[in-house]
Amino acid sequence: MNGGSLMAKHIRCAECRFARPDPKASDRNWTAYECGNRDSEYYRALLNITRGGAKLSWITWAGCAWGEPVERGDA
Ligand code: SF4
Repeated sequence: MNGGSLMAKHIRCAECRFARPDPKASDRNWTAYECGNRDSEYYRALLNITRGGAKLSWITWAGCAWGEPVERGDA
């Protein structure tokens, strides 16, 4: 069911099921998203902020090898 690949495929955070809102880091006008995967080196890192600290409304982080795609059709 996983396509038969033994290697984890690097996916983008925007397509990863571990990306989740972070209410603590969010403010009234901005929803922060963080990595919720304890196995990732980016666990708890914010995914929609630039290196300079600018808040973005979309997830731009490039992702990692521990990401897993959002499962579709199961909502
Ligand atoms: S850093 Fe990796 S595990 Fe975390 S949300 Fe992005 S792709 Fe998913």
